[in-house]
Amino acid sequence: MMKIADNLRSVRSTIPEGVTLVAVSKFHPADVLREAYDAGQRVFGESRVQELMQKQPVLPSDIEWHFIGTLQTNKVKYIAPFIHTIQSIDTLKLLAAVNREAEKCNRHIRVLIEVHIAEESSKHGFTPDECRKMFLDDVFSAYPHVRIGGLMGMATFTDNEEQVCREFRQLRLLFDELRVLPFVGDDFTELSMGMSDDYPMALREGSTTVRVGTKIFGAREY
Ligand SMILES: *Cc1c(COP(=O)(O)O)cnc(C)c1O
Repeated sequence: MMKIADNLRSVRSTIPEGVTLVAVSKFHPADVLREAYDAGQRVFGESRVQELMQKQPVLPSDIEWHFIGTLQTNKVKYIAPFIHTIQSIDTLKLLAAVNREAEKCNRHIRVLIEVHIAEESSKHGFTPDECRKMFLDDVFSAYPHVRIGGLMGMATFTDNEEQVCREFRQLRLLFDELRVLPFVGDDFTELSMGMSDDYPMALREGSTTVRVGTKIFGAREY
């Protein structure tokens, strides 16, 4: 039972103060999340709506839930009442759905724009150029119930560290470029990059939020 607390402590010891650690708890049951909660963890990341819907009501209400997976527009309504951040905004259609459901709940939802930085085509997200254009055209002002909190990206799944660093650096440079634009507000603070295998590199490249699952909870059984 001590294991998760130990894992959390060792991961936290490698993350600078001020960087958010999202404990990615997908595929792990609620009692495992509770163990992490009892060890002080408050930010959890989930990637499936139905699973999140089962866990959220049975766990403490001060948890910050981050959605990090593929999100279908017709499922936004289920998580809109309580979700803290949706990190995986990869289409304007999804953003519009989040805005609509947030308005119905009379709240704002923080979102991150997912940027496709990996060479792998399987990954989701806007290209850096699409992203740049959306910010320059100020398209986000049409969605007053979302707060654009920053960017999220995933590097290519590879042992080639140079490539991973290059991809993270590319996202960091885009983040730095966008955050100084006149339309981009004070909410734009987060650069979410880095998972169990590559978060040390992501931190070196300027990540403000890391999403760590396996290093905390062990391997997932799909
Ligand atoms: C599953 C997942 C993670 C965590 O991956 P680990 O390798 O287990 O740390 C991080 N980000 C996203 C988007 C994920 O889907």
